[in-house]
Amino acid sequence: MTNSDINNPSKLLRANSPIVLPTLPYSENALEPTISAKTISFHYGKHHKSYGDNLIKLIAGTEYSDLSLEKIITATHDQKEKKAIFNNASQVWNHTFYWKSLQEKGGGSLPTELKTLIDASFGSQSECKKALAEAALTQFGSGWAWLVIDGGKLKVINTINAESPLTTKMKPLLTIDVWEHAYYLDYQNRRVEYVNALLDNLINWDFAYQNLS
Ligand code: MN
Repeated sequence: MTNSDINNPSKLLRANSPIVLPTLPYSENALEPTISAKTISFHYGKHHKSYGDNLIKLIAGTEYSDLSLEKIITATHDQKEKKAIFNNASQVWNHTFYWKSLQEKGGGSLPTELKTLIDASFGSQSECKKALAEAALTQFGSGWAWLVIDGGKLKVINTINAESPLTTKMKPLLTIDVWEHAYYLDYQNRRVEYVNALLDNLINWDFAYQNLS
């Protein structure tokens, strides 16, 4: 690896590497006014991209360079000396999952099969949304709120920093990014407004449904 390669992560990337910045599933202004194009531009174009670029540099020439993103995450979890690799890999995965958890004109009614599960697990869609908002608001500092399926039952959990349900037996269905960079330009310190607006206007229940199978 040469110095110029270090400064150009794309040169370190194999042609078929899973560690590429995925295309956003919508345009940068598609989530306005709930999330501004400016927020998406920084969040996707700077934050998400940096996690990917850092990861590519960290794994170049290591035992991890040929692994899938998911395998890198599970292989480095809870290993102190691999923390930087875990953090960057998990943040790449979490952000890709977050973009898919949102959609233009989201937040509507539930696909029937998901509704049945949500009603059984939370009582109603509105109670499920309340649980997600509660998880997002009570997360101290940076982290994520998740809807997961755990042994046939739906649950809401939160994770700190870069952690995710991928390292547990729970399967993630959707997520909300509650790092300040996700909302600060639009809502400043008002995390509650960001989370409620996102749940009402953007959350992609069809994506959660697809993740059940
Ligand atoms: Mn983020």
